Amino acid sequence: MTPQPPSDSLHADLCDGTAITDFHTHNLQAPAGCAIINLPQAWTECPAQFHPRPGALYSAGIHPWWTADHEAILRMKQALPRLLSHPQVVALGECGLDRLRGASLAEQEELLRWQLALGETLHLPVTLHVVRAFDILLHLHKELRPTTRWTIHGFRGGPALARQLLAAGLDLSFGVRYNPEAFDLTPPEKRHRETDDGRQTTEATFQDK
Ligand SMILES: [Zn+2]
Repeated sequence: MTPQPPSDSLHADLCDGTAITDFHTHNLQAPAGCAIINLPQAWTECPAQFHPRPGALYSAGIHPWWTADHEAILRMKQALPRLLSHPQVVALGECGLDRLRGASLAEQEELLRWQLALGETLHLPVTLHVVRAFDILLHLHKELRPTTRWTIHGFRGGPALARQLLAAGLDLSFGVRYNPEAFDLTPPEKRHRETDDGRQTTEATFQDK
């Protein structure tokens, strides 16, 4: 199918992330409406299994860790345009580059480019998983000049890398473990909070902030 940009105004309202208190989680039971719940691999391979809860918001993408299985990749590539067109799917991701896991970096980059093009067509913000590949990511951002927000999720880097990413126009999302200096220097409008794999709420995770 040909993906169409979403007409639902929900998308526009949520794309700036203001209503979101948990920017990225794998907890399928996270509170509806204020968390962006990442679709698991099984649902990404087989969208018939995706039964969204009323009011819940989701992100869908091909995780770098899932890229070693070529058959699975084909299924996910086929399913992703349909999943991303669902009105409750408000972000592409997590997708990205991981030098330590998954397919070769060249294969990961090819797949990421394909996903980013799809995200741009659908006007979806992007949630990125990046491990030891920020140079490639910054290059991609410069080359592609996306019109939607790209956010590095689970950011644990130090202040120098944070400054570099922010200067390039990216947002940062912080989980349980993060560098406090990098957190503090990130402007609030570019800073997000997430529970990721954790079961705590962001309120509990960030009670000191
Ligand atoms: Zn995650």
